[in-house]
Amino acid sequence: MQNVPELFGSMVFNDKVMRAHLPKDVYRSLKNTIQRGAPLDLEVANVVATCMKDWAVSKGATHFTHWFQPMTGVTAEKHDSFISPCGDGGVIMDFSGKELVKGEPDASSFPSGGLRATFEARGYTAWDPTSYAFIKDDTLCIPTAFCSYTGQVLDKKTPLLRSMEALSRQAVRVLALFGKDVCRVTATIGPEQEYFLINKQDYACRPDLILTGRTLVGAPAPKGQELEDHYFGSLRPRVKAFMEDLDAELWKLGILAKTEHNEVAPCQHEMAPIFATANIATDANQLTMEVMKKVADRHGFACLLHEKPFEGVNGSGKHNNWSISTDKGENLLDPGSTPAENTQFLLFLTAVIKAVDEHQDLLRISVASAGNDHRLGANEAPPAIVSVYVGDELQAVIDCLIKGTSPCHSNAPTVLDTGAVVLPNLPRDTSDRNRTSPFAFTGNKFEFRMPGSSFNIACTNVMLNTAVADALAQYADELEGSADFQKDLLALICRELAAHERILFNGNGYGEEWPVEAARRGLCNFRTTPEALVHYTDEKNVELFARHGIYTRDEIASREEILLDEYGKAIRIEALALLDLIRQQIAPACIKYSNSLAAGVSAKKALGIEAPAEAALTSQVSALTGEMLAAADRLSACVEAMPQDVTGMAQYCADTVLPAMDAVRTPADKLEQTVDRTLWPLPTYSDMLFYV
Ligand code: ADP
Ligand code: MG
Repeated sequence: MQNVPELFGSMVFNDKVMRAHLPKDVYRSLKNTIQRGAPLDLEVANVVATCMKDWAVSKGATHFTHWFQPMTGVTAEKHDSFISPCGDGGVIMDFSGKELVKGEPDASSFPSGGLRATFEARGYTAWDPTSYAFIKDDTLCIPTAFCSYTGQVLDKKTPLLRSMEALSRQAVRVLALFGKDVCRVTATIGPEQEYFLINKQDYACRPDLILTGRTLVGAPAPKGQELEDHYFGSLRPRVKAFMEDLDAELWKLGILAKTEHNEVAPCQHEMAPIFATANIATDANQLTMEVMKKVADRHGFACLLHEKPFEGVNGSGKHNNWSISTDKGENLLDPGSTPAENTQFLLFLTAVIKAVDEHQDLLRISVASAGNDHRLGANEAPPAIVSVYVGDELQAVIDCLIKGTSPCHSNAPTVLDTGAVVLPNLPRDTSDRNRTSPFAFTGNKFEFRMPGSSFNIACTNVMLNTAVADALAQYADELEGSADFQKDLLALICRELAAHERILFNGNGYGEEWPVEAARRGLCNFRTTPEALVHYTDEKNVELFARHGIYTRDEIASREEILLDEYGKAIRIEALALLDLIRQQIAPACIKYSNSLAAGVSAKKALGIEAPAEAALTSQVSALTGEMLAAADRLSACVEAMPQDVTGMAQYCADTVLPAMDAVRTPADKLEQTVDRTLWPLPTYSDMLFYV
């Protein structure tokens, strides 16, 4: 591999490149925009555009695109070349400030949830200078926000940027109370990305994977993940080659790919980057998913990002590690060595606890999708109930504060004696890990473990940032007028912790008792996506987002509608894909098999040979085939009867279509285990998960 520091960011128009290529005054005004959000004038934009284009052309780029994140969840791009006719029949490579700053894609073909009618097509993309432009496939990609002609948000980036502003504004107010002169506070995110790699040839033979991202039929392989031999296991050479190539591609794009390892399920892997600001981390994660698929293809793999590609095998998530830091580099969730005495830390911790308690519904909504419903609560990922794990040490501090028993000493870090003289003794972390918690404190950040592997993390972080901003705003309002700050501060922390104690749960989130206990505590438990989504427009949420200028009522309603619609459509596609598979591939194979069995049985009978087992097998295959086809007919009827309105359709899919699909799958999977292997039309779980 090339020299890594040289390779890193080589395709990014980053600070180093800007400093080297831009005139000093232009660089300074652009920096001012990036760091302080100062408006950028067109003259500056023109100079930046020319420099950017020259740099991109020197790297082989011929096109540019405004790269944005519409509500489809995937990124969108429309490529324009740099060419401009120059009078003598030739062309020059040209790119103006206007083209850099603003684009006009047709907004009517992206989901708008009723915000845009087809005839009101105009939409704008606007340059986001806080995320660097980069070159991908010979195209200069300019990260942009996407909104409608009337200014309503149509994308995932705009609300994220707004929520980061809101969080910064309120955190700065709170820090001022502690005598800290801070200009900006930034949410930082490290998203750990899980994925599966399977052979491309197998993928190509599975229409269900191609159309829906998951297998709609498939009997369990004889071996699953029960030996626990895959997690951190040594990498297959082909997978290792893929990971090396992936790292190199991500590094070129300035993405801080750091950790690569095998995950729990066979063929499942993870990539964790070093954290970045919420905005950059979100863009980088969107790019990471795209690059993973491309690099996989080069290595003869298909990269599966669906939350549940294989039934009975752990699905994939995306751990959203979240913290907040000041422009001076102070991590506000770092407890230091004596958290009990660190009231600033305690106040921020309390704000997060309050935020998660008051807006559990929003966090659940931010991870709701047809795919993720298969994971949450299935004993492989957190339950659908949101709770916070703080660990023993912080819990002890919190308990003291709530009870008013002081002084509360935190346990001093102890040393873990490894018991072997050749090994060094390790300082023990002050809290153990709790893998079952959806929202866990992990030393100096929170890890939100509910997002699904295919998600755009913007939405989750909009919810988190806004909810925490709201808690901080209330605290700032209360404390700004205080005559005795230390006393009032402590009283507020104790009162607030007591008020939100119910959200703290350090026990086993997979246990059967937890949903019962959670219900007793009054916590939300939205098991399915439609159950969760209808709360998006609850008055509390409309008010929250309006208070911080994140979404208007219409914008939230549009998001609720888009997500419900997407859920219903995803399940409808699954149902139709399953019907095709059954009727066109699986049933014909089963019938062929039972026909050949029947022919054999009659031939033997004619010769006076008794073949009772074969006769029984014939009946069994015929009966199961009949059961499967009858279930397919019922599923077909369900699809026909789908309600037209998005809410009705989503609820109907959850209540009626999914169970009807299960009824088809059960006999199909039994048949797979019975029918002649050479007749079975699809690669099996064994083929896909245990390739050599
Ligand atoms: P694991 O959860 O597997 O133990 P690590 O502790 O190594 O993983 O970190 C997980 C992720 O958390 C990494 O992506 C890392 O960059 C990120 N992370 C670390 N510190 C912060 C922070 N202050 N803010 C946001 N993310 C962070
Ligand atoms: Mg993790």
